[in-house]
Formats: sequence, C-alpha cells, structure tokens
Amino acid sequence: MYILVVNCGSSSLKADVLDLQSKKTIIELDAERLPLQPIIHINNEEVVYDGKLELGEILVFCLDKIKSELGDKKIEGIGHRVVHGGDYYSQPVLIDEKVENAIEELCALAPLHNPANLLGIQKAKQVFADLPNVAVFDTAFHQTLPNRAKQYAIDKEIIKKYNIKRYGFHGTSHKYIAERAGTFLKQDIKHLRMISCHLGNGASVCAIEFGRSIETSMGMTPVEGLVMGTRSGDIDAGIISFLQTKENWTAQQAEDFLNNKSGLAGLSGLSNDMRDILQKASEGDENARTAIQVFTHRLTKYIGAYTALMGGLDVLIFTGGIGENSANIRNRVCQRLDFLGILLDEDKNKSTQLSNENDVSNISDENARVKTLAIKTDEQLAIAIETQKIVEEKNKVNCIPKIPIAISARHVHLTRETIDILYGKGYELTSYKPLSQPGQFAANETVTIVGPRNKYENVRILGPLRSKDQVEISKTDEFFLGIDAPVRESGNVAGTPGIKLIGKNGETTIKEGVIVAWRHIHMHPTDAELFGVKDQDIVSVDVDDNERPLTFKNVIIRVSDKFKLEMHIDTDEGNAAEIKSGEQGTLMTTTKLVSLNTKNV
Ligand code: AMP
Repeated sequence: MYILVVNCGSSSLKADVLDLQSKKTIIELDAERLPLQPIIHINNEEVVYDGKLELGEILVFCLDKIKSELGDKKIEGIGHRVVHGGDYYSQPVLIDEKVENAIEELCALAPLHNPANLLGIQKAKQVFADLPNVAVFDTAFHQTLPNRAKQYAIDKEIIKKYNIKRYGFHGTSHKYIAERAGTFLKQDIKHLRMISCHLGNGASVCAIEFGRSIETSMGMTPVEGLVMGTRSGDIDAGIISFLQTKENWTAQQAEDFLNNKSGLAGLSGLSNDMRDILQKASEGDENARTAIQVFTHRLTKYIGAYTALMGGLDVLIFTGGIGENSANIRNRVCQRLDFLGILLDEDKNKSTQLSNENDVSNISDENARVKTLAIKTDEQLAIAIETQKIVEEKNKVNCIPKIPIAISARHVHLTRETIDILYGKGYELTSYKPLSQPGQFAANETVTIVGPRNKYENVRILGPLRSKDQVEISKTDEFFLGIDAPVRESGNVAGTPGIKLIGKNGETTIKEGVIVAWRHIHMHPTDAELFGVKDQDIVSVDVDDNERPLTFKNVIIRVSDKFKLEMHIDTDEGNAAEIKSGEQGTLMTTTKLVSLNTKNV
C-alpha cells in the first residue's frame, strides 16, 4: 500500500509517498521558506516555482508535482500530521467535515500549526479527490494523561473558559518509539515502564506506563519542559510579566522571546544546533558548556521524576536528532543514574550509528536493570502506518453488535492466605449471588478497608479466590480513603499501594493491591474475532442511546474463553455519565470520530 504523508507548516511542507510493504520512501518532497521565498526539492532535485507567493497555491503546486511523479502507482490514502487534537481525539481519525471543523476550532490552541495543517488537508482533498484523508494528532497519545498530570494549578473557571491544560506533543513519535522498543526487546509494552526522550530541535520527554502516556514535559503549548533549540522549556511564569514590564514587550514579543530566542540558542549565544554547541564547548567556550549542562541537567531531573511517578523504570529511550546521534549527551544525561538501574556500556554508546537498516541500538551495560536504547524515530512512517490502519478499517464492512455495560461498585479479590487471616484458616467464601462473568460470584462475606484518612465498611469480597489480593476502588473512594491508586487493569498490581483490611476474625495490611480499575470490555475469543480486536487493545465506546450521548475513550479489551461480552465501568464513571447497569455501548472502530458535541468521561 502506498500512502502520502503531508506535514504542512506555516513556512514549510514535507510531503512523502511511502511504500508500506518495504517501509521505504519512494517520493520525497521538501519545501522551505514558504510562502515568500519558496525553495522546493523533490527527490533532492530543486524544482522552480514561479506562481503566486501564497501558501495555498504553493501547496497545490507541490501536491500536483507528487501526483505526476507517481505515474501509474496508486496511493490509497493521505495521512496528515495535525498538531492539536485537543480533548476530541485520542487516536487518528478519518477526516470529514466534523473533523475539519474541530481542527479549525483548535486553531485557538495552536495558532502557529493547526491553520497550516488544515490548509494542507483542504489542498490534498482538492488535488487528490476521492482519496481518504486521515488526521494523525501530535496530542492524541497523551490523552491518557491522568487528570492530576493534565491540570495546571490555576483558577478552575479560567481553565474551563479557555480549555487550559497540559495536552503534550510529539505523541506520534513517542508512541512509535515505544512500540519499536517493544518489538526490539521482544516484549509487550503493556508490561513495561518506559521513558522516551525525544531530543530534536523541539524536545520532550514522556513517561509511558504499560503502553499509555502518563506524563509528558510539553504542556498546553510546546514551550514547556526541556531546554530546546530555541525554546526555553520550564521557566518561572513570573519572569514573563517581569520582562514585559522592564522591556515594555507586547504579549507577542514575550512569546517570540520564549519560542525563538531562548533554549540552546539563547544560552549559548551561538546556535540552536547541538553539533555547533558541542564543538564550541570542546574548544573551551563557557557559554556553550553552560548550554549543554542546563540541557542535560533538566533532562536528568525529568528522568528521575518520571521514574518516581511510575514506581520504577524498565526502558529508557533516546531519539530525535540529538538523542539518536550524540553519545556525549546520552552519557551526560545518564551519569549518576545507576541508582535507578540505568548504566550505559560506553563502548556501545560511542559506536552507535543509527540508520534505516539499523534503527535501534541497545547501549546499556549488560548488568543494568534498565535497558537504555537509542532509536531512530520516523514520524512520517509512523503517520503512514496509522493512516494505513484507518484506511484498512474503512474498507472493512463492520457488523458491530452492541456491548452491555455493567457498573462495578468497590470490591475486593482476596488470596487464600488473606482469607485465612481475615476469616480463619481454610474458610470458604459463600455465594451471595452469581456475577455475569461465568464462575464469578459476589460473596456474603465483606471486609472493612482502612485508608490513611477514612475507612469503608462492608466492602464485598468477590469469589473465587485469586493469586493476588486486589482492592478495586473509584477515584472518589481514593480521595475519601486518602490513598493514591493508579489506574490499572485487573491483575496488574505491582507497585500499587497497600491497605489495611479487617475481617470477621482478624486483620492484615496488604503490601500492594489497591487500584482504580481501567475501564474494560470482557470478551470471549469469538467476540474478539467478530470485533476485529485482540486482548489488550485499546478502543473507544460510544453510548448514544443514553439521554446524554457520550464516548468512553481508553477502554481496554480483555479476551478469555472464560469471559462473556460486557463492558465494566466504575461507579464514578457510571454516575458522571448517568448510566445505569444494562445500558449498551457501541465499540467504535478508529474510523469513527469522537464527536464534538458529546461528553467524554
Ligand atoms: P531534529 O529536530 O530531530 O532533526 O534534531 C535536530 C537536532 O539534532 C539539532 O540540534 C542537531 O544539532 C542535532 N544533531 C544532529 N546530529 C547530531 C550529532 N551528531 N550530535 C549532536 N547533535 C546532533
């Protein structure tokens, strides 16, 4: 399958045709200094443009060039990089009028990017009529950030009025890199805690816990976080108003200062290019040395913080121009992180030369607990792969049955050992009522769960017994109990908080096991085949029969021959969505967009 990938900025265009079988680029078009002094190269040969100096016209010219270059090769879809998908999109989406309206609405949040992205879409539709267009959002991968990571601590009315929150960027690269690391290590990323450091001219770091982005350094705009080529990254917000007063700057000038005159360029006074800065630093330039130190210090700080958030780390990844190519920077960042299990093999680090054929290198010491990898990112390929998925789904005729929804109240699953302590040695649970999942039952027996702040009495035990203790609570419960529980799939309790349990005959404190259950759909393998999904896939579910139509994003699929088709949400989610047990949802294929006027929970 051939896919055209369009990455259209306000002053540049990158448009490539990729062959997804060989994963090679067969046509490459780069245009810079748009629109006033266009320099256009197609397959590295300069093309003269003598038309009107207007972005839309130049785009049409470039896309026409690609069309004629294609000859009799047929492209099957067009993937567009779109910077901001706001809260609407947590995955790529087939573009229709509603999607275009959403991208337009989001221009307010990404004024430098979304308007150009949208123009790219409109012109692609004009030149390649009838082809499916897919939007792949930089922000989508970070939609799984928990609320506590998304929120700025500012007035909630202002937050609501302007949708101010941390959206994160570079998501397409972070996701691609994480998946590439998983394939390389022959491990499912759903079992790994990873930190991906995308260090290019723009730079960001992302904590990926079991396949989901849970923290990232860029925020509402790409200015927050790491030191970048020309962006400051984190800065005391007070400095801006200070400078506006002292320098008599407009808001525009302040923004220009942070985006274009800061970072490596600002600190070094030399260049935004890390190669120049490393060179000058080696010749003794103090400003270049400071720039490198601030850059690596900031990143080391983030790695420590993100490891703490995930309660550990399995894989550390370097990517982007600097991360892929600079052994020196990788070494500086990892120095003194051996206490986290990060230890480089300096020979491997230094000799790493990434290429399309050799796109991953394991640079960790063989005794290091954390695998450190350098991986070549490829955002164009990542967009092409995502586009291919959507195009293939669109071509499938789907007959989709509805999924019953059940609401789970707080409950516990216990081990033989814990029951022995709480109810007496060898005690057998008695069934109060069978549950919908075959073989499962709610027991007559209950426990009291005691958190640091409060306790809940009469929390039902669910049978049969399990190999690990697990206490499933909602976000509201979490707050009431005074406990910080992560969102996890059932059975994955490693590194979660413990809690005190009191039964009829005794009490015990379990060391781990308290989770907020990840909303999930139980499926029999025959259902999974019908829906075209597999265990651990993440999907969205539409509930449009409800009085208030809504979409549940980030729903995990659990497949077992012991399961019956049913989606489980917790009481908070049920209440927020005004859903009662027994309602039904529709599993959305990724082609169906999260509609704008629905409420997302
Ligand atoms: P990107 O935005 O991903 O293309 O990355 C651009 C950045 O990567 C620039 O700061 C380059 O200086 C940097 N870069 C590329 N090659 C090297 C290298 N060999 N050593 C250090 N930095 C490099």
